[in-house]
Amino acid sequence: MALPRKKLVAGNWKMNTTPSEVAPYLETFRKEIEEIDGVDIALIPPFTGLSKASEILGGTQKIRLGAQNLSAEAKGAFTGEISASMLRDLFVRYVLVGHSERRRLYGETDEVVRRKLVAAIASELRPILCIGETLEERQAGQEKVVLETQLHGALAGLSKEDLEEVIVAYEPVWAIGTGLTATPAQAQEAHLFIREQLVKLAGTEVADKARILYGGSVTADTAAELMSQPDIDGALVGGASLDPRGFAKIVLAAVPEE
Ligand code: PEP
Repeated sequence: MALPRKKLVAGNWKMNTTPSEVAPYLETFRKEIEEIDGVDIALIPPFTGLSKASEILGGTQKIRLGAQNLSAEAKGAFTGEISASMLRDLFVRYVLVGHSERRRLYGETDEVVRRKLVAAIASELRPILCIGETLEERQAGQEKVVLETQLHGALAGLSKEDLEEVIVAYEPVWAIGTGLTATPAQAQEAHLFIREQLVKLAGTEVADKARILYGGSVTADTAAELMSQPDIDGALVGGASLDPRGFAKIVLAAVPEE
C-alpha cells in the first residue's frame, strides 16, 4: 500500500510584513509550533523578508522557506526580477508559480507559468503550482475544463522526474481572500480530478505521491475538515498566515492522527 502523504502547510504572506517584522513573527511562531511534528511547514514572505528569515532559521528543516514568484530567466538584463538561483542561495525550498493574483493582475499565461516551473525545477526549487477556476467559470460548470487546461498547460512535456518535484495547489479564485471557502466535498472533488489528471501526465506512482494543497480562505476553523479529505494533502494559507498564533493552529490541524 502507498505510504500516506505527509501534509504541507504553507503560509503566503503576499505583500505584507516588512523585513523588521520577520523576527518577531518567527519568535512567536517557533514557540507555538515547538511541539508539533509530522507536518511540513513553509513560510512564504515577500522577497524582502527572505534574507532575514533565512538568517534566523539557518537552514532548519522544521520551517522551510518559500518565495512568492520567480523569473523564468536564469540571469541578465531583467530589471526588477529575481532568479531561481538567487532564491536557492537564501536556502529557499519552495516557490509559488501561477498564483491567481499573478495570472489576473500581471497577465501570467500558462506558457509563462510553465517556463517559471521549469526554471524552478532546474535550480532544485520545489514549485507549488497554483490552479483554480473563477466564480463565473464554476457557475458555467467549467471548473474541470479550467483545471485541466491549467494543469496540462503548465506540466505537459515535463519528464517524470521533474513532475515528481511539483506540488499542486487547488485555489478556487472565488475563495481567495473572500472569506468563502470551498466545502470539503467541493474541494475533495476538485483534488481527486487533479490527481486523475496527474495520472495521465505522470503515471499512477507519481500521482499517488503528489501533494495537492487546498487554498482559499482557510482558517483555523475550517482547516481540519478540509485536510481530513483523502486527496487534500495540506493547505496554502494567505490572510490567516499573517497571525503566527492563528497559523500555528492551522499547522496543528494537519498533524496526523496516531
Ligand atoms: C493565497 O493567497 O494563496 C490564499 C489562499 O489566500 P487566502 O487564504 O487569504 O484566501
